[in-house]
Amino acid sequence: MTEPRIYMDHNATSPVRPEAARAVARALVRGGNPSSVHAEGRKARALIEEAREQIAALVGGQARNVVFTSGATEALNLALTPGLQAGNDSRPWCLFVSATEHAAVLSGHRFPAESVEKVPVGADGLIDLTALAQALDTHPASRPLLALQLANNESGVIQPVAEAAKLVHARDGLLVCDAVQAAGKIPVDIFMLGADLMAVSGHKIGGPAGSGALVFASEAVHIAAPMVRGGGQERGVRSGTENMPGIAGFAAAATAVKAALNSEAARLAVLRDRLEAGLALLGATVFGASAPRLPNTTFFAAPWIKAGTTLISLDLQGFAVSGGSACFSGKVKQSHVLEAMGVGPDIVEGILRVSLGWTTREDDIEKFLEAARRLHSNTAAGKTLAA
Ligand code: PLP
Repeated sequence: MTEPRIYMDHNATSPVRPEAARAVARALVRGGNPSSVHAEGRKARALIEEAREQIAALVGGQARNVVFTSGATEALNLALTPGLQAGNDSRPWCLFVSATEHAAVLSGHRFPAESVEKVPVGADGLIDLTALAQALDTHPASRPLLALQLANNESGVIQPVAEAAKLVHARDGLLVCDAVQAAGKIPVDIFMLGADLMAVSGHKIGGPAGSGALVFASEAVHIAAPMVRGGGQERGVRSGTENMPGIAGFAAAATAVKAALNSEAARLAVLRDRLEAGLALLGATVFGASAPRLPNTTFFAAPWIKAGTTLISLDLQGFAVSGGSACFSGKVKQSHVLEAMGVGPDIVEGILRVSLGWTTREDDIEKFLEAARRLHSNTAAGKTLAA
């Protein structure tokens, strides 16, 4: 009998939760166009509006300020635009991004390259708030828009978003928060964080891929130039008939993760600590270990990891883990996150990311550590032979 596989790549995509799968199926069967006035349309509309409440509850926002998108990449593309409008300040926007942002943010999207400034992080992966304040002050003729993630997809490091928001708001700016990795893993409250716009993604919380949302803190912020134009759905910000099954599954996953948030965070932190204690005995170094981190993520380097072969070997043994962020998997290339944290390119070959989630059991950690011990002793044996 083949052993069941052990999936430890929840930061790439978390397996679809049964609640979400059921909600997708129900929505598919229900059908209807939410913009139609007949009974079928009204039922579809009711589903979308209920889902909006559920997504708002996940991030402490208001349902009327949730805009559904095809995922967080689209939500972030939508938010990062010089066409943002808020209040009477007529200065042009200057976009600041932390150096460890996801690729969906780093490129700055509709901002010309010369209006995008990278803010450094320290060796622990945390944004340098002094450097941020200085950078904000060097462009007094521009209005600051800061894109800062709540938690990093590779390291799990949790950024001081509320402190950064204070610096930005003191200069009449806005903060766009990528909460993709944080949502469902730690408490997220758009108001307590001081975020003006927030992006979340369905497939990171056990909902379907291709679902996500941009959440506005208030109606005071407008996007003057939407990317997808047409029938004016989603208050004109994102046209196109809503992806009802995707939205329903996303909302069901949001409700499930929110209900289990505290107990799951505590459970996963225990498993993560056990994993890291075991890895420490095998000479592993965990990135961002001194910073606040998500309870599910371990991003580490060890001499017995060889990019390409170790991932394949673990895969053949039944473990799904990542060598870096999902978007770069398959390419052996220095992670920009580690580069920003000052990690040299020499260890690019020896890095793994293990990210736990709702499917992870205690036994999975023990089995992974056994596999790591085998890799470690094979490397040690190889060294002895070569010596
Ligand atoms: N932001 C972060 C931190 C992510 O990890 C990801 C996905 O890897 C995204 C944004 C993009 O999300 P989506 O896959 O929904 O477009």
